[in-house]
Amino acid sequence: MAQGDGRGTGHGDGHPHRGGHPHGHGHPHGHGQGGGGMPGMPRDFNQAPFLVIWETTQACDLACKHCRAEAQPLRHPDELTTAEARRMLEDIRRFGPIIFVFSGGDALKRPDIVELTRYGTELGLRMAITPATTPLCSEETMRALHEAGMARLAVSLDGPTSAVHDEFRQVRGSFDHGLRILRTAREIGMSTQVNTVVARHNVNDFKVMGELLSELGIVFWEVFFLIPMGRARPEDVAGAEAFERVFNELYDLSKTVPFDIKATAAPQYSRVVLERKVAERRQGARSEATDVLTDGVAHSLSDGIGRARGVNDGDGFMFVSHVGDIFPSGFLPKSAGNVRTDDLVDVYRNSTLFTQLRDRSLLKGKCSVCEYLPVCGGSRARAYAVTGDPLEAEPFCAHVPKRWQRMVEAGEVEDAKAYFARRALHPGVELPVL
Ligand code: SF4
Repeated sequence: MAQGDGRGTGHGDGHPHRGGHPHGHGHPHGHGQGGGGMPGMPRDFNQAPFLVIWETTQACDLACKHCRAEAQPLRHPDELTTAEARRMLEDIRRFGPIIFVFSGGDALKRPDIVELTRYGTELGLRMAITPATTPLCSEETMRALHEAGMARLAVSLDGPTSAVHDEFRQVRGSFDHGLRILRTAREIGMSTQVNTVVARHNVNDFKVMGELLSELGIVFWEVFFLIPMGRARPEDVAGAEAFERVFNELYDLSKTVPFDIKATAAPQYSRVVLERKVAERRQGARSEATDVLTDGVAHSLSDGIGRARGVNDGDGFMFVSHVGDIFPSGFLPKSAGNVRTDDLVDVYRNSTLFTQLRDRSLLKGKCSVCEYLPVCGGSRARAYAVTGDPLEAEPFCAHVPKRWQRMVEAGEVEDAKAYFARRALHPGVELPVL
């Protein structure tokens, strides 16, 4: 599946678990960074992620230009078996009644997805799926998923028209399937979400996209900012200035549209929201929202999911590959273990990679001295994709922290362009940083 896949939900609270101590629901962990989400969900990201995404398979009938998984037509023989997937769900339930997402590839290429949905739901996980926009996602399958407890279904739409979307997904008719799936899911009673990848090809389409989505009855729009990995190249990323423009458009849309909007792989959206709120206050506008980063969350809470504030790679988030490798995100392919041989809960809480990613004092470059560090921290996956170091500064952020600027003027550090040019893994490709 192409970059940018979603979130989900399930029902109720759960049951005991294999091995380890049942984490139980209703154990708020005090001082965590999470905001939003349902009561009873863990809040301390040092202890539990807000959500786990499983790349069920890499098999997919689409061949999207920016596919993270570099999807294949056939399933891999070493994919997790049904029994292994059930054990993984039990382990994940030890974190609490968190969100679990079937991603891919196309999750519907696996014949056991309905069974696993039912099992995860019985355990108390909140289940969601991001199927590919193909005929495989039929009404019959959607009804079976809904009956098994799937509460949210997310579909990728990467442009406001079939021309833009189908060109990106490389299959004619994919856009129309997306609309069909969203409408059918809604009729059945499943709540729906749209995922959109921001890349060079659609960077001017976001206002129109907002209008289209307003008619579709979705509860959540996840806008994913491209990471240059898999089939995506650095030059496909729209660039720091274009990101800034889209952030501002999303902020404007978030005030009027009937769904929640979230920027993914772009924690710097939090900075833009704060800057805009401050500017509005200076002009005398009174902010009615108490939490500037969770405006609109009521829409996405309607199916029991909500969303968390401050989620970043390995920090509130975990990804399991089709063969069981444990990553901080699907876009940060640095493995910290494998569910076949390691305790997934222990890997999340204690592995060097995950604990380092949660320690923002370890960040480098301009992020390390940024006044927005507590709410942002930059995309760790994009830093890794561009420099090979997940603790490096975010390469596609337009902001120059005041302290960094003073250091540049004092000759203590290079300016951002020179800094990233020396650290880029792809010499010769000029990065669109400021
Ligand atoms: S410099 Fe880093 S921490 Fe500051 S806003 Fe940009 S990405 Fe976020």
